[in-house]
Amino acid sequence: MDSQDVKEDLKHVLFTKEEIQEKIAELAAQVDKDYEDREVLLVGVLKGAVMVMADLSRALHAHYTMDWMAVSSYGSGTKSSGVVRILKDLDTDLHGRDVLIVEDIIDSGLTLSWLKSNLESRGANSVEICALLRKPASVKTEVPVKYVGWDIDPEFVVGYGLDFAEQYRNLDCIGTLAPHVYS
Ligand code: 5GP
Repeated sequence: MDSQDVKEDLKHVLFTKEEIQEKIAELAAQVDKDYEDREVLLVGVLKGAVMVMADLSRALHAHYTMDWMAVSSYGSGTKSSGVVRILKDLDTDLHGRDVLIVEDIIDSGLTLSWLKSNLESRGANSVEICALLRKPASVKTEVPVKYVGWDIDPEFVVGYGLDFAEQYRNLDCIGTLAPHVYS
């Protein structure tokens, strides 16, 4: 599948490459302001947050280090249950650290809510969240998200790290899938 075929699988482009890059620059400016006097530990959640992390970290002027976690949410079908298993843990000791979780998308919020409490329990000085996308109509738990790119409708989206069956992560835009992809 070349990248043109992949783009033909989209029903609607929600955010173009340029819009995403502009939004990342805005988020980076906010993070820079809040962490100008302390080092921030960026914690990326694999795999979806890879693109956000790559672009956000390069746009930052603040001092940062980076680490990654992989988690899986138990649930029925595509819905998260809030019961989370760690597949890959951090290598970093969190005592006294100022942590910023970097996420692609918040759907029910259950995964992030669990992750935030988990990282706080390891002695972090602070744990904040940055998510490029959030679906307010799907959120089941009020997890405070300090930096949000866009609030979107509760539709399934792909691109810029977000996959459908491991496809479409490499798209430079974000969009919804055409019905022929599902059938
Ligand atoms: P939550 O615990 O907030 O319900 O689950 C969040 C996770 O579900 C995200 O990190 C992402 O992996 C996945 N997810 C939620 N909504 C979407 C979506 O619209 N598209 C894709 N590709 N993944 C999603």
